[in-house]
Amino acid sequence: MRYEGDIYRPPGEWKSYLLQVTIGCSHNACTFCSMYKNKRFRVRPLDEILEDIALAKRYYGDVRRVFLCDGDALAVDTETLLKILEALYHAFPSLEKVTTYAGPHSALNKTPEELSALCRAGLKRAYLGMETGSGELLAAIRKGVTAEEMLRAGVTLRQAGMDLWVMVLIGLAGRGEPSRRHALDTAAMVNEMRPRHLSALTYTPMPGTPLYRDIQAGKFTPVTPREALEETRVLLENLAVDPLHFTSDHPSNYVTLKGSLPQDRAAMLAQIDAALRGERPIRSEPLRTL
Ligand code: SF4
Repeated sequence: MRYEGDIYRPPGEWKSYLLQVTIGCSHNACTFCSMYKNKRFRVRPLDEILEDIALAKRYYGDVRRVFLCDGDALAVDTETLLKILEALYHAFPSLEKVTTYAGPHSALNKTPEELSALCRAGLKRAYLGMETGSGELLAAIRKGVTAEEMLRAGVTLRQAGMDLWVMVLIGLAGRGEPSRRHALDTAAMVNEMRPRHLSALTYTPMPGTPLYRDIQAGKFTPVTPREALEETRVLLENLAVDPLHFTSDHPSNYVTLKGSLPQDRAAMLAQIDAALRGERPIRSEPLRTL
């Protein structure tokens, strides 16, 4: 397979054929993110993408899942995306779903009809990096959208029929009251957006990013492992979406949590409390992997 630069995918896409339709991220400005800093964003030419699909067909024969890379395949114009989806479902008879990261701007740049057409053509799941429900924090991390726009992006993706998977970042606000506020605002936005899945990852300082420089300059103090768990606890307590598939099992997390809300809430809170009481280990140095 042909790939340019480092490739990232959500943990749950480990079985998927990864098809690079864009290089980099169309936004590429978030202060905490280093994923695509060395890539200049561009959409790959359609003929190259179709060649890749033909190569994958020869190599894999058939696949059941495809994840569209890099950071935001929704930035590709709808007509081209529909051609890519058509080629994928034609090449792989067993293909069940195509998934992608969805930048909030790119989601809002498409009409609800375009998003519905993409979903009907097989783009069945969108992973939205909400990061936080706080408008102040979204501005501070330069996410490029307001809280209202982030909420609208998620709701639009869900209403288009997509299986919406939201990702938020524990520890992004730093310590103390901002940590609690971030958890409460995030729970409130998730409750309004109503995704089917929510992953709570933990902020990991990445060298070369503006937020990392803030840490070095003493302007931002990351949460401790204990504070990250307390923040996760506030988030978990305040989530009201039913049903919600909740995961906090990324290498960045201090304790692995996974379950369905609301029925598994008490068990997951008990796991956090046991870790806070020292009755189960807290991962002392989570992997610096995104
Ligand atoms: S967090 Fe997402 S939107 Fe922000 S720069 Fe990184 S890949 Fe792009």
